[in-house]
Amino acid sequence: MRTLTRLLTISIFALTTVTAATAQTGFSGLKADAVAGVDDRAKMVQEIVDSLFSFSELGFQEFETQRYLTAILEANGFSVEAGVADIPSAWWATWGSGEPVIALGSDVDGIPRASQMPGVAYRQPMIEGAPGHGEGHNSGQAVNIVAALAVKDIMERENLPGTIVLWPGIAEELLGTKAWYARDGLFEDVNAVLFTHVSNNLSVSWGQARGTGLVSVEYMFDGIAAHGAGDPWDGRSALDAVELMNIAWNFRREHLHPLQRSHYVISNGGDQPNVVPSYASVWYFIREMTADNIRENFATLQQIAEGASMMTDTGMSRRIVGAAYPRHFNKPIALAMDQNIQQVGLPTWSEDDQRFAKALQSLMGNDEPQGLATDLSGIGEPLDNPVSGGSDDIGDVSWNVPTVTLRYPSNVRGLQGHHWSSAMAMATPIAHKGAVAGAKVIATTMLDLIQSDTLVDEAQSYFEDVQTAEETYVPFIGPDDPPAIEKNTDIMDEFRPQLEELYYDPSSYDTYLDQLGIDYPQLEPDTIQRIR
Ligand SMILES: [Zn+2]
Repeated sequence: MRTLTRLLTISIFALTTVTAATAQTGFSGLKADAVAGVDDRAKMVQEIVDSLFSFSELGFQEFETQRYLTAILEANGFSVEAGVADIPSAWWATWGSGEPVIALGSDVDGIPRASQMPGVAYRQPMIEGAPGHGEGHNSGQAVNIVAALAVKDIMERENLPGTIVLWPGIAEELLGTKAWYARDGLFEDVNAVLFTHVSNNLSVSWGQARGTGLVSVEYMFDGIAAHGAGDPWDGRSALDAVELMNIAWNFRREHLHPLQRSHYVISNGGDQPNVVPSYASVWYFIREMTADNIRENFATLQQIAEGASMMTDTGMSRRIVGAAYPRHFNKPIALAMDQNIQQVGLPTWSEDDQRFAKALQSLMGNDEPQGLATDLSGIGEPLDNPVSGGSDDIGDVSWNVPTVTLRYPSNVRGLQGHHWSSAMAMATPIAHKGAVAGAKVIATTMLDLIQSDTLVDEAQSYFEDVQTAEETYVPFIGPDDPPAIEKNTDIMDEFRPQLEELYYDPSSYDTYLDQLGIDYPQLEPDTIQRIR
């Protein structure tokens, strides 16, 4: 009975939204069909977004996510290869044949210690200390998969040639895989990559993106253990090497260009104070605006590590953990996508959505909360004065194949990045509506690439004659650097049993908020909702 009621509800819902969407957007022909095909799958968007949110997997450990998404793709006729580029949680799904080959990518990993109940406007971890989707990477595959299925229907019906590829950004928070995908030639036959990333508006950009590229590198020091009180003179402290390295880097910071960003954690500081640490390690992110500047700062860091090793009489080795080239996005594809963005527009937010967004903004200290965006932010163009900030290893993809990133409005502006507050909206109607809007833009842009006689060629000629005419891609990783696939194993081993108890069950609950018993938007704590 429950299932029947649910099916009826879904189909009525689908019918009404389709009518509304075709009335609202100015698309006609196949693009109108694609938009309708996305609206028909609004329920699927919600289920994917909510499921990935509940899995809460960290980088390189996205195995439940892999199992769940590849099952959906296989059921819809895609061929799936798991474990590509020697990364066990990675996968590569293809459907169709011939050109254009369009590859849709989006990240899937979460953030350590970001566990947070969705739909409530106060801090409440679902599991204390556990990972969570405090970046919103649970939403992008829903955008891509639903867009792909809507376009696949049309390609089958109209006998259109072309190949659709779907792939995940594994361990994006560690900048851990896309350079490895590129190294293994996964993008060699691809004509265009449409990448999607969660945001709080609907936009695309071309040229050099805001933000940096980076090398992520861990330095390991080997010393000699000794009794910390009995005969410390017989020991050589690996921790001393780590501390001296960090001190030297922090002095050097003053003489680096202001747009650089660099940060580290001591990944191993020894075991206990009365044993001279025979092993210690420190993990650095070295970020700069250009590939050359990243290489220069990395060489400086290497020298400092060698100096620390000499000063302490310890052995030193290093390992590349991640890499991200500064991003450069394709102009012709971005311009085509922007046309579609203007047609799709921002979602219609409900009063509850706006109340919830404002409550989150207030929670994060904003005295004049603005709520969710209601105006498009417009296309991003190259800046005269570049702006520093974060990195994304989609940069490596963007130097191998014409690439753009669609930013879609599944999260609330003004929250803290890489933080539990950025998880609060990520399994609510805000995330679902934002992903549906994103899927419409991806689907219609796929049709541009398939139907236009010139767009694929224009994209390729921008890539060859403009982007790579003066700058050559020289990857930061070498031919033998392995992906850091063991990262986060311990954390996921610790939390996975508790997380499993909270996995979203779409066969029993309409939404994840229903399963958790949350009356969205829940602005005040309520003991009934405290499930653990
Ligand atoms: Zn991200």
